[in-house]
Amino acid sequence: CGIIGIVGRAPVSGRLVDALRRLEYRGYDSAGIATLCNSRLDRRRASGKLRNLEAVLEKSPLEGLIGIGHTRWATHGAPTQANAHPHLGAHVAVVHNGIIENFKELRDALINAGHRFASDTDTEVIAHLLSDRIAQGLSPHDAVKDTLDQLEGAFALAILINGEDRVMFGARRGSPLVVGYGEGESYLGSDAIALAGLTNRICYLEEGDWVQLSNDTVQIFDMTGAAVERPVTLSAATG
Ligand code: GLU
Repeated sequence: CGIIGIVGRAPVSGRLVDALRRLEYRGYDSAGIATLCNSRLDRRRASGKLRNLEAVLEKSPLEGLIGIGHTRWATHGAPTQANAHPHLGAHVAVVHNGIIENFKELRDALINAGHRFASDTDTEVIAHLLSDRIAQGLSPHDAVKDTLDQLEGAFALAILINGEDRVMFGARRGSPLVVGYGEGESYLGSDAIALAGLTNRICYLEEGDWVQLSNDTVQIFDMTGAAVERPVTLSAATG
């Protein structure tokens, strides 16, 4: 339902939760964040209101300068903590808005290939597909492209990759996704309001676009994998 991603130069955990609070207006049933710290992915999730996630984070904080967050509106799987995003594969963390229509076929193939699923969501196939491609030796960039090519349905995604402390990927097909440009930071949001407290320099990805972010670079690709330029505009949204 709501997505935030921060490739930061200062700790992101609190800022991810702040952005999720700006996204509360969309409605949600659970929430979670994941960060990369010293090349290790870790996550915290909770069903119900954001204050439940905050309580989990108070007991068990998450460090890291790069992270993703999600407020979920369940389409596949009950609104439980186990079904809350981010979802993990062996090598990645993923948050997702929308529906993966062909998730059953993908999940059956992945289970046959030895993957174990921990949720009832359609989203989790994305995490395992990506991990599978990375385990096969594909670069993160090629693994993301290959995974996107296999997905049917509507999605906006934000992706972290184990060991890649300075890289985030995003993708949009059928669900909006916005890139934000900061000072030595870059961002992903499901809308401009998510980014309102972070930057007002934003770029609306176009249908089929995907993006590789670092602190100071934003590379956008179209559905064929060709690099494309999209206009950066000044957002009127305010925190
Ligand atoms: N289909 C996904 C799920 O049920 C994402 C739902 C959403 O957009 O929040 O977990």
